[in-house]
Amino acid sequence: MNYLPDPGRYSHAAYRRCGRSGLLLPPVSLGLWHNFGAADDFENARRLIHGAFDAGITYFDLANNYGPPPGSAEECFGRIFMQDLSRFRDELVIATKAGHLMWPGPYGDWGSRKHMLASLDQSLSRMKLDYVDIFYAHRHDPETPLEETAGALVTAVRSGKALYAGISKFPAEQARQMCSMLGEAGVPCLVHQIRYNMFNREPEKSVFQAVRETGTGCAAFSPLAQGMLTDRYLEGIPEDSRAAGSSVFLTKERVLQHGDKIRRLAALARSRGQSLAQMALAWVLKDPVVTTALIGASRPSQIRDCLKALDSAPFTPEELSLIDADADR
Ligand code: NDP
Repeated sequence: MNYLPDPGRYSHAAYRRCGRSGLLLPPVSLGLWHNFGAADDFENARRLIHGAFDAGITYFDLANNYGPPPGSAEECFGRIFMQDLSRFRDELVIATKAGHLMWPGPYGDWGSRKHMLASLDQSLSRMKLDYVDIFYAHRHDPETPLEETAGALVTAVRSGKALYAGISKFPAEQARQMCSMLGEAGVPCLVHQIRYNMFNREPEKSVFQAVRETGTGCAAFSPLAQGMLTDRYLEGIPEDSRAAGSSVFLTKERVLQHGDKIRRLAALARSRGQSLAQMALAWVLKDPVVTTALIGASRPSQIRDCLKALDSAPFTPEELSLIDADADR
């Protein structure tokens, strides 16, 4: 059946400027790390993308290695794009990344020019796109000169295969250096993508300062701590949850370790009249240094629940200190 997007899709969200660039991003964006792999239900993946776009989400975040197997999330997105979204290409911000392990041998990962540019070509082919909107260096490579990785991003943009360059998970000092090199080449760094949520407060130490100084935007990934900062685990570990699956990044043990914090934060969210996911997102977005919160979802109802965060009441100082008390140390 032909997909017709909701004509009211732009009436919901207040788009936020990405750093000092001309690009506006939705406050909540959708990432395809999980639930878009070869073994996942394609029709569900399609419903997730439709639900997001219908609600005004324009930014879809991918990487070469998302799946499993690596590459399959881009293939899945490419199928959905060709089926439903190609005529809306100019309404979409589609991002991919290179840097994590993608293929065997010495050129299959990290930040060399060889890896970055070959990987971008592969990503474009899997997604059936002529260009991506944002091409990210997925991680800092301590063995490759920053100039080389920056040069690959510049080439990607100059060749028209990417509109903007971004970085992900760079330490503050290396982020500053990348931004300076990219800026000098006339390809300013659009955005720094980092993990930020009520448990993981690391970026507050130095990365946010670098983001402010360099004028990049900031995309906060895993704002729900992979689902821990939602009502998902309040009654145990559901069989269809990420923690019950084979993820090495979110294990049952990790959820159980956070059990008391999750229950306290969920009670606080209830006292504010919202779900824990809504409170977690409102909290991530309260500082304008964060341009967009990059969520994941396994069903469209989760996206709808998350988007209600945009109607949240401001936090009181007492609420903020209760949240601070449950940060990971
Ligand atoms: P989240 O922290 O948003 O976790 C998403 C999970 O939370 C969902 O899969 C779902 O779990 C659960 N969830 C979401 N909404 C709700 C809700 N309203 N109620 C209950 N449960 C909910 O983000 P991710 O960890 O998935 O990361 C998001 C994106 O960030 C990725 O797709 C990727 O694009 C990016 N990212 C980037 C990284 C990088 O290195 N640059 C690293 C990691 C992520 P369940 O599946 O169990 O239902």
